[in-house]
Amino acid sequence: MSIQKILIANRGEIAVRIIRAAKSLGISTVQVYSEADADMLAVREADEAVCIGPAPAKDSYLNIDALMAAAEKSGADAVHPGYGFLSENAAFVRRVEAAGLIFIGPSADTISRMGDKVAARQAAEAAGVPVVPGSNGRIDTIEEIIAVAEAVGFPVMIKAAAGGGGRGIRVADDVAALRKLAPQARQEAEAAFGDGGLYVERAILAPRHIEVQIIGDGVDAVHFFERECSLQRRRQKVWEEAGAVCLDHATRDALCASAVALAKTVAYRGAGTLEYLYDESTQEFFFIEMNTRIQVEHPVTEMLTGVDLVAEMIRVCGGAPLSLTQADITATGHAIEVRINAEDPSMQFMPFPGKIGRFEVPQGPGVRMDHFLYEGYQIPPFYDSLLGKLIVHAETRDAAVDKLADALSRVVIEGVKTTIPLHIALTRDPDVRAGTFHTQWLETWLDSGGLTRALSPMPKGDTQ
Ligand code: ADP
Ligand code: ADP
Ligand code: MG
Repeated sequence: MSIQKILIANRGEIAVRIIRAAKSLGISTVQVYSEADADMLAVREADEAVCIGPAPAKDSYLNIDALMAAAEKSGADAVHPGYGFLSENAAFVRRVEAAGLIFIGPSADTISRMGDKVAARQAAEAAGVPVVPGSNGRIDTIEEIIAVAEAVGFPVMIKAAAGGGGRGIRVADDVAALRKLAPQARQEAEAAFGDGGLYVERAILAPRHIEVQIIGDGVDAVHFFERECSLQRRRQKVWEEAGAVCLDHATRDALCASAVALAKTVAYRGAGTLEYLYDESTQEFFFIEMNTRIQVEHPVTEMLTGVDLVAEMIRVCGGAPLSLTQADITATGHAIEVRINAEDPSMQFMPFPGKIGRFEVPQGPGVRMDHFLYEGYQIPPFYDSLLGKLIVHAETRDAAVDKLADALSRVVIEGVKTTIPLHIALTRDPDVRAGTFHTQWLETWLDSGGLTRALSPMPKGDTQ
């Protein structure tokens, strides 16, 4: 193993997760932190910590010069980017590589090709993987956008080429809507990603979001089966599971094989996810994007397969071949993850930073909580609202939902509002129980007062 010391260029729960994987491999860790994050759990758990600047992300976690200086000062020989921030930024990867350090992810060239959503569509098509009908490249003028939309048929989605986290996406039903919404999408993408490039896809009606986890070592690649992430709010995942209830064996095998083929085509190194939309009415799959990094929801796959994906990505990026063959990877039972955000579900999910009071994590077989909380911790208001993830694993999906409901009732997070009441309500919903939902289901349920009904009176076990 060539890596001795990893600089963690991220924060929050994923920083804690990476530190634990590094420790399990005997690798030491350097945690960077902004001035607002001096008290965060990862700073306490890492072997060393380096302050990289003021609270705003652009001055700290997105500040490439500060990160490179911290890497040099600490003598780190590798950088783990986590998710978000600079994890899919090819310019950052080039700087890391130029400094002679290992980037724990794919090469800068692979990120340019697969991290850009338009380029990734083209790579998928070239590998024979179906994409959603849409534009062949970025489209700049409103006339071009209209022409593509008319060719693929309304409704269409206007999407940001650099997009992520559900931002820079708009749905348009007709030409008038396109004229109004395209400039909004461009502006949002420009503000969020510094890149206003757009493309257009046909909007698939009520699809399921299904994704495949892969890891490659630059030569070979394997998959770790699929996840379903159809329960979304504002195109952001809320509840994720492995495997997908709606797939039969043959379809699942074909999907996973297509993901491995695409990963091999680009000689992929590191952990990655290929995201697809599945149209149940036609049983068609469409590739939508590749995330060239570890994802928030990787633990469901870890629970399903028993593989430490973060450790494996560190190993292969350190130059080792994959430690597993495809035949070594088996899926057992069913796993579900819910995202616990510091948000008030009864107030349109308004962010709710604050100081953590009493804090208790549920224990038991098949129950895991990845988080960065402790009693007395003050959550800074500058970053996203994810506090942690509760993950359960059981023999069947039904048993997993039961276990999730029980585990949720035993989480105690005093001092802030969280999305736990939403998750408790979801575990009781007949559609969620039956697994009959799609990517618009949750928004429709919220709009029709599903949560308000479920919250009054407050569910037993909610401590807030
Ligand atoms: P996942 O695909 O792992 O579910 P998300 O899409 O929810 O991940 O994004 C994970 C985190 O990274 C979120 O905080 C999101 O806001 C952020 N993020 C995702 N893509 C980008 C990007 N291109 N630029 C900046 N932040 C991003
Ligand atoms: P991001 O990079 O922000 O994660 P994605 O391209 O992965 O963006 O899309 C996020 C979500 O938006 C998807 O999970 C899905 O719910 C919805 N979506 C994206 N493209 C389409 C499409 N062409 N038709 C219908 N829904 C879509
Ligand atoms: Mg996505």
